[in-house]
Amino acid sequence: MSHPFPTLESAMTTVVPAPQPVLVPVAGGGTWPVRRVYCVGRNYEEHAKEMGFTGREPPFFFMKPADAVVYVPEGETGEIAYPPGTSNFHFEIELVAAIGIGGANIKAADAMAHVWGYAVGLDMTRRDLQGEMKKQGRPWEIGKGFDESAPIGPIVPAAKAAGATDATIELKVNGAVKQTSTTAKLIWNIAETIEHLSAYWRLEPGDLIYTGTPEGVGAVKPGDLMEGSVAGVGTLKVKVR
Ligand code: MN
Repeated sequence: MSHPFPTLESAMTTVVPAPQPVLVPVAGGGTWPVRRVYCVGRNYEEHAKEMGFTGREPPFFFMKPADAVVYVPEGETGEIAYPPGTSNFHFEIELVAAIGIGGANIKAADAMAHVWGYAVGLDMTRRDLQGEMKKQGRPWEIGKGFDESAPIGPIVPAAKAAGATDATIELKVNGAVKQTSTTAKLIWNIAETIEHLSAYWRLEPGDLIYTGTPEGVGAVKPGDLMEGSVAGVGTLKVKVR
């Protein structure tokens, strides 16, 4: 693609401060530049049911801004603020796929070659605002795309996370298990998700895909500690301020 963008050098002369790139460390070394954050809605059957839906509807997508990503190093506890405007702040533990090779109209059979790695992520949600927007037929951004809504652990290269697509996924709050399932239960697996997604948006290196959450979503309040994990990928600990 060629666009008449200014060069990086001319960024020195931007009329307001240029935003920092969003960078997530890679396990074992290196840095992942986050381009876009795509999320898949209702992609585990039991979660679809708890949200009042059944069956294998076609996958649907929403986005979060890249700078909603909050990196938390493996083994450390990150912090996010309890966001404004909500009284029903929900956790959703998710396997994240990191796109290393871009493309449009990628077929499922070829899709896994586009996946560079995986991470553990939280799709934090202002459930009350999302519900209100759903009811009114309005966009979900206020419920999904807010500041600090996408905590994530390090990106793990696919070769070091071979079992990521058939792994136990779990979330505890204050030590009690709230969500537990396996990534093998994704309604639309990662290859199929990429096929659908890339039919509507051209994927590029740096894109992240939050692949959906299993059943058991619920609310957290200030002081709560969330401990998420995907076996073979990592753990993600986040405290609500
Ligand atoms: Mn989600």
